[in-house]
Amino acid sequence: MSCEECADLTTHQFRSAADLVHAVQTAAGEMERGVLRRVEAAQLTDAEREAMQSVFDAGAQTTLLYRFQCTVCGDQFELAGDAESGNGGWTRLEPVVTPSSDAP
Ligand SMILES: [Zn+2]
Repeated sequence: MSCEECADLTTHQFRSAADLVHAVQTAAGEMERGVLRRVEAAQLTDAEREAMQSVFDAGAQTTLLYRFQCTVCGDQFELAGDAESGNGGWTRLEPVVTPSSDAP
């Protein structure tokens, strides 16, 4: 489902905080190139927020959660992790099927 621009952005788990930082830098670079755009967290559903909070137990103050979308093919990605431990990963999300609504 990926296009050439985002084909390299494959799902992977972070092994360290450095991996997380690298993923953030990669995403930032792709945004500069115009390949990715941020999807605001406000668009997350309540269920998604709860899922995130259960993944990272209460008390963690350094968790990150960013959503991105490929501007070319529309695939979405999630960057989630703990900045201190490096736990987390970069995930290519399954395409959301919305045949009747194509919001700008
Ligand atoms: Zn793409």
